[in-house]
Amino acid sequence: MLTEEVESGEILKEAARRRTFAIISHPDAGKTTLTEKFLLYAGAIAEAGAVKARTGRRDTRSDWMAMEQERGISVTSTALQFEYRDCVINLLDTPGHRDFSEDTYRVLTAVDAVVMVLDVAKGVEAQTLKLFEVCRSLGLPMITFLNKLDRPGRSPLELLDEIEAKIGVRPTPVTWPVGIPGEFHGVIDRRTGGFTRFERSVRGKTLAPEVEVDASVAATEEGGDWTNAADECGLLDAVGASHDQESFLEGKTSPLFVGSAMNNFGVRSLLDAVVDLIPSPRPRRDVDGQTRSLDAPLSGFVFKIQANMDPAHRDHVAFVRVCSGRFVRGVSLTHAATGRTFSTKYASSLFGSDRSTVEVAFPGDVVGLVNAGELRIGDALYADSPVVFPSFPQFAPELFRRVRVKDPGRAKQFRRGLDQLEREGVLQVLYELDGDPLPVLAAVGQMQFEVFQYRMEHEFGALTEYLSTPYRVARVVTAEDAATLGRIPGVRLLRRGDGTLLLLFESAIRLQTVMRDHPEVDFGALLGSG
Ligand code: GDP
Repeated sequence: MLTEEVESGEILKEAARRRTFAIISHPDAGKTTLTEKFLLYAGAIAEAGAVKARTGRRDTRSDWMAMEQERGISVTSTALQFEYRDCVINLLDTPGHRDFSEDTYRVLTAVDAVVMVLDVAKGVEAQTLKLFEVCRSLGLPMITFLNKLDRPGRSPLELLDEIEAKIGVRPTPVTWPVGIPGEFHGVIDRRTGGFTRFERSVRGKTLAPEVEVDASVAATEEGGDWTNAADECGLLDAVGASHDQESFLEGKTSPLFVGSAMNNFGVRSLLDAVVDLIPSPRPRRDVDGQTRSLDAPLSGFVFKIQANMDPAHRDHVAFVRVCSGRFVRGVSLTHAATGRTFSTKYASSLFGSDRSTVEVAFPGDVVGLVNAGELRIGDALYADSPVVFPSFPQFAPELFRRVRVKDPGRAKQFRRGLDQLEREGVLQVLYELDGDPLPVLAAVGQMQFEVFQYRMEHEFGALTEYLSTPYRVARVVTAEDAATLGRIPGVRLLRRGDGTLLLLFESAIRLQTVMRDHPEVDFGALLGSG
């Protein structure tokens, strides 16, 4: 029994050192730069500049494809693990799509918090709003980093209002700028009242010299800028916009830091906040609402599947977030959906394009299982005591296209691709119950169609073409409701691969009329049940 206690103690201790989070931002706000600077400050890389220049990405059809081609360090990998202070940091990548997409959502189910990066010149941008809203709706604690203070931008006070109004999370500045964006001199740390002077480092390659200056000295040296910043801090104190750990953990407030990722300024404070503020992994609830304690036998769920990451190997990796227990490479896992056992001999962890074998992992860590062809997104895996985690809610898709293979001779490749890409969750594949036999692809973002078509061609050798459909809105319904509603004109009933029934409407107005005529039916909200 003693060994069990020792084992459990070690698992809890290791879990408590984990910080698992994602950086979310609008493209160009500085996510890549910040990721790299985190690695620099953690000592995981010696010098910044290792992230490959993503040349030509501005006009490529998507970051995803550009990343496919370049596969540089860090940003393109699913999970980066590095140590900082006495913690093990797991930084999960969210796809840099311009549209919100389901992949991002799934990654967010596997993290314990997010760092939201905003460009001070742009604030909260419309295209990414949904992403931020989703974090709020998941109740994920959010740290905000206001980036690019070295350049002209908007008033930080105004941005605080914008964040609260648009995302519904109240920012509580921890550091506050002295000087205005573009004429930025440094920050006041509202916890200590001290001043840290901003100095440009040589192209941000090395750690920024962070000169701490006493408040009274700063007041003399900075003059009017100091007075303004101090006044603004007074205002923030007066309205109670100060960090509160409890409301942060509830996802209601967001500690805010300002800086310039490119110049390394504010990076260390932010990384310290990741360690000090972000919660360590907590026990997850299973499908019955019971929590599975962190030291329970090994369990985890698949949050991402990626095939053909390495064209030379044509492999298939399922990324699993460990929820409880200790993972040791080679352990045999049971796949909850099929009851089959699964070998983990080839488990890997990823750092940039280097894949290394993972030997042990603890709650909060990510393990990549190679050649895990049977696994699907959301699937649970466990050792010893069975568990099923709640299925991922799937977004009610908003875009629909019928797809067909151009060359009927490639029908087999087309079907294989369709099956694979659906399994990976690239998009949803629907079929009409009676009617046109061609599949209808459903997505929440335009990008999903582009990725589908690109991968069909390049990985499966099937050129495809899209045909328009009259559908604009979809709702998940029960088989019972479907029987009555499916016959209404302007409404079509389709089935997803997992058996879920969806009603497709030609317009939002059509949906509204149907909802009005059938108040007894629950049409769900943003999310359709998975
Ligand atoms: P991502 O699309 O969010 O990953 O953004 P990147 O990290 O690729 O940054 C987009 C552009 O903004 C790049 O040209 C960066 O060099 C630049 N950038 C990032 N951080 C800063 C900053 O603090 N100041 C300035 N002036 N530029 C920055």
